[in-house]
Amino acid sequence: MLIIGLTGGIGSGKSAAADRFRSHGITVIDADQVARQAVEKNSEALHLIAEHFGSQILLDDGNLNRALLRQIIFDNPEEKQWLEALLHPIIRQLTKEQLNAAESPYAVLESPLLLETNQHELVSRVIVVDVPEQAQLERACARDANSEEQIKAIMSSQMSRDKRLGLADDRVDNSGSLEALCAQVDQLHQTYLDLAAS
Ligand code: ADP
Repeated sequence: MLIIGLTGGIGSGKSAAADRFRSHGITVIDADQVARQAVEKNSEALHLIAEHFGSQILLDDGNLNRALLRQIIFDNPEEKQWLEALLHPIIRQLTKEQLNAAESPYAVLESPLLLETNQHELVSRVIVVDVPEQAQLERACARDANSEEQIKAIMSSQMSRDKRLGLADDRVDNSGSLEALCAQVDQLHQTYLDLAAS
């Protein structure tokens, strides 16, 4: 199975590109969504987390109290390590299962941290959606309720634009319109169909 990784900084247009691949019937696995599934209500991982941190880590409805967990691991690198050691293999396994279950000619793994984590080992090619930083900032601010400072902080915690582009097999330039983005995705789709068939 041909698996394509799709990445880019916050607000670069990953979701927009992913939607376009989906419109062609291509299975797109969203790494953020898989990470949420790993700790969903009644899951084995959530059970272990509650055992480790105590039941106050659960909300009244049995779901994970994400804000509290974020705060605990922010203040405590050892707890962060414990959590990552628990979750990384589970998330990786879930991601593999979902990619393997894809019935489209190829599948896409969309992840903001594709290149920062070992997720890129699961893919045969990497697309980077690229925008100038100013457009990235403006679009992310317009989309999210975050301040410009918060978006800037996220941008600086992510890989630099140059470094990311250096690791790309395919680049989508999203400095123009959404139509221009879609046209580039359509072209890549044809390329990947050919690759998958060969
Ligand atoms: P990401 O998933 O990389 O964080 P999104 O696909 O959500 O980015 O795009 C960020 C925001 O910018 C969204 O509100 C999206 O609709 C908008 N957007 C994406 N591409 C364009 C574009 N070419 N022109 C204008 N707005 C865009």
